Amino acid sequence: MSIQKNSSIGTVEESQQSAVHLAEDPALLVFSHLRWHFVTQRPQHLLTRAAQSRHVYFWEEPWFHDAADPESRGRDGGWVEFLEVEQTPDVTVIRPHFNHGEDSIKGQRRLLNRFLSDRGLERFDSWFYTPMALSFTAHLHPRVTVYDCMDELSAFFGAPPELIEREKELFRVADVIFTGGQSIYEAKRSKHSNVHAFPSSIDLPHFAQARTVQSDPPDQAGIPDPRVGFFGVLDERLDSALISEVALLRPHVHFVFLGPVVKIDPAQLPTASNIHYLGSKSYAELPRYLAGWDAAILPFALNDSTRFISPTKTPEYLAAGKRVVSTPIKDVVTGYGMAGLVEVAGTALEFATALDRAISTGQDAEWTQRVERKLVESSWDLTWAAMRAEIDAVRDRKSKVVPPPSRWRSNHNCSSGSGDPFDYLVVGAGFAGSVVAERLASQLGKRVLVIDKRPHIGGNTYDFYNEDGILVHRYGPHIFHTSSQKVVDYLSCFTEWRPYEHRVLAQVDGKLLPIPINLDTINRLYDLNLDSGGMEKFLAERVEARTEIRTSEDIVVSRVGRDLYEKFFRNYTRKQWGLDPSELDSCVAGRIPVRFDRDVRYFSDSFQAMPSEGFTRLFERMLAHPNINVVLSTDYREAMGSHPSAKVVYTGPIDEFFDYRFGPLPYRSLRFEHKTHDTEQFQPAAVVNYPNDYDYTRITEFKHLTGQKHEKTSIVYEYPTDEGEPYYPIPRPENAALYERYRALASAAKSVYFCGRLANYRYFNMDQVVAQALHMYGTIADDEAAEFSIQIPARMLGSATATAQAAT
Ligand SMILES: Cc1cc2nc3c(=O)[nH]c(=O)nc-3n(C[C@H](O)[C@H](O)[C@H](O)COP(=O)(O)OP(=O)(O)OC[C@H]3O[C@@H](n4cnc5c(N)ncnc54)[C@H](O)[C@@H]3O)c2cc1C
Repeated sequence: MSIQKNSSIGTVEESQQSAVHLAEDPALLVFSHLRWHFVTQRPQHLLTRAAQSRHVYFWEEPWFHDAADPESRGRDGGWVEFLEVEQTPDVTVIRPHFNHGEDSIKGQRRLLNRFLSDRGLERFDSWFYTPMALSFTAHLHPRVTVYDCMDELSAFFGAPPELIEREKELFRVADVIFTGGQSIYEAKRSKHSNVHAFPSSIDLPHFAQARTVQSDPPDQAGIPDPRVGFFGVLDERLDSALISEVALLRPHVHFVFLGPVVKIDPAQLPTASNIHYLGSKSYAELPRYLAGWDAAILPFALNDSTRFISPTKTPEYLAAGKRVVSTPIKDVVTGYGMAGLVEVAGTALEFATALDRAISTGQDAEWTQRVERKLVESSWDLTWAAMRAEIDAVRDRKSKVVPPPSRWRSNHNCSSGSGDPFDYLVVGAGFAGSVVAERLASQLGKRVLVIDKRPHIGGNTYDFYNEDGILVHRYGPHIFHTSSQKVVDYLSCFTEWRPYEHRVLAQVDGKLLPIPINLDTINRLYDLNLDSGGMEKFLAERVEARTEIRTSEDIVVSRVGRDLYEKFFRNYTRKQWGLDPSELDSCVAGRIPVRFDRDVRYFSDSFQAMPSEGFTRLFERMLAHPNINVVLSTDYREAMGSHPSAKVVYTGPIDEFFDYRFGPLPYRSLRFEHKTHDTEQFQPAAVVNYPNDYDYTRITEFKHLTGQKHEKTSIVYEYPTDEGEPYYPIPRPENAALYERYRALASAAKSVYFCGRLANYRYFNMDQVVAQALHMYGTIADDEAAEFSIQIPARMLGSATATAQAAT
């Protein structure tokens, strides 16, 4: 692998020099499926404007070579080519190259990392045209992530099937989404909280040249009048049948097509003596061709791939003073047709008749004025200014929650003399791992590699917008509650909060009753009208005395009696644990309170709230420190060997770390079944428990937790199971004893810190894990300080010896 410096098309050094002139905006890293030097479209208009205040790096899709290609000989593993953009030194086009058969995902990740480190690019914004680029960029930490969604790419001919999944992921990680038109905006607006429509705009002075240009380009000069024309990519979006029919209906009209043929066989294009294909023309040449047309056309087919298009050429034709006839593309109709600026025609006959009118009418003063009014409002300059304002707004919002600069930051270079780029390897990107990583990076200036085997950060608390744009929790409902102000203060550096008090109902005897059991539960279940004192008496008459509280059954029957135990707890526990409460430690049911008032809150903590933009956003900000690298979909064992001198913070299962040498620690797991319903609300509370009916234990409706407004709603069913992800350690004495054996090994392990629920084989709530991780960080900081203080005398001794030697 290498990074090529190709002097014939602009060198790395030249690009770096141009960057000297830049204003304070960080570089913009763009990932595009379109090639810069292909056809000038929206990306070039926007990004050349972006380049007025920052350097733009435009990363294209890879270019593949045959093994026999002399250019690729001896260049296994790929290389990048840097291309300059004429008159725009602050745009650098980067083109990755690979041989056919090479893994271009891994290859691009490597090339990109190398490129970023060569340029020292730590701070940058990223901008996506293709969601597919996430496959090699997910580990980056841009300051702001933009998705400029130009089209419904997945509807395009030849679109990779995983594009839809990737786009969902991009919607999750992007801070702001721009759409290339109104229709695509309508389709995407519910999928993200920060979506803005920016329909295609116009470079008015450029196309207005067509109004004054006289001379025909040589290849057009021989085509007789009247002429109508089209420029752009010639692909499956064109309606070939319609073009053929119209050409047949109007044999005296000549149809000129400019542009490259893409994805379709050129032989499929309509042919006739009055249809002319003149090939690709540069952006600069277009006004000269346009000048020689009597009208312009948008003969697009109406299919999936054109449902959301907002053709840039519409205002460009108009700027050239040309009448336009279009098929009923939604954005053309709503943006121009309804205002009488473009003729819209559905059938071939209508199209031909509209062309007759367009050719014979030409320009008139009133129409020209209306066109100009519309175009002045739609300049690329205005569009870019509005986009930039949105990006700045995100930057400002995010900068409020960036952790303060580190105290010890300047020390980090002394911490590893081994040449290893990382001081710490953190296994697990859940709360335990992320908190420790963030503290190590921001407070001690340590270089941290966070590894998770899952394809996302956040551990079990990971949330994401599903295909309907509803925020859901992948691994079941996570409700934040704590009585620790320290934990709240810490997490508030990375999120704002939405107050939320959790409520749970249980379906018992056909009634939905509050849980934990309170006064209303008893009154409604037994059709009573007790007050608090009455409830105490009611329960006192039913509880079963126990001399020793050992099991979950003991604790429940001694608090609420047998009937409530049978109705609310016994079967629920059997489903949840696969064990009878009489076989389970008392601590399992010990968490469930009984209330003698009407308090329906599930938790009693002083702080109950949800992160206002979800858990994943919180984690993104926590891990956004430039010293932290995150690698996903990777088991830590793949990375351990590469970082032998890094200390380890391990938040995975403790038995796995020691290769299960005493046998596996038993866990209970869950299977989640997510569903979305076409109704605003599914159930009256966030969670409904089903102790006695069905195989699932409970149903959660997420909109109650997140406060999201949406016409649909998403729910999740939980089916307890023995197999699957390790969720709940099974609290039985023999398991505790097994864990103790592993714990003894962990205490003896050198330079490994064990933290979190899996490493401790204990059920912890999120706040407990955060508190534990902050405490663990304190321990590590103490160890670092101790190491540091040992090093100082050693160094001082060294220099004192040297001084003494010099003196003799
Ligand atoms: C269904 C359910 C509901 C819950 N609801 C709540 C709630 O409402 N409120 C609350 O406070 N708490 C709740 N919790 C508890 C909460 O999920 C935990 O407290 C929290 O997620 C623990 O964080 P962690 O970092 O210790 O573990 P995790 O979040 O599990 O993170 C550990 C990470 O380590 C990674 N890992 C493991 N092995 C490896 C390996 N070999 N290589 C690389 N990576 C590895 C895993 O992929 C995982 O991402 C709930 C738990 C469950 C299971």
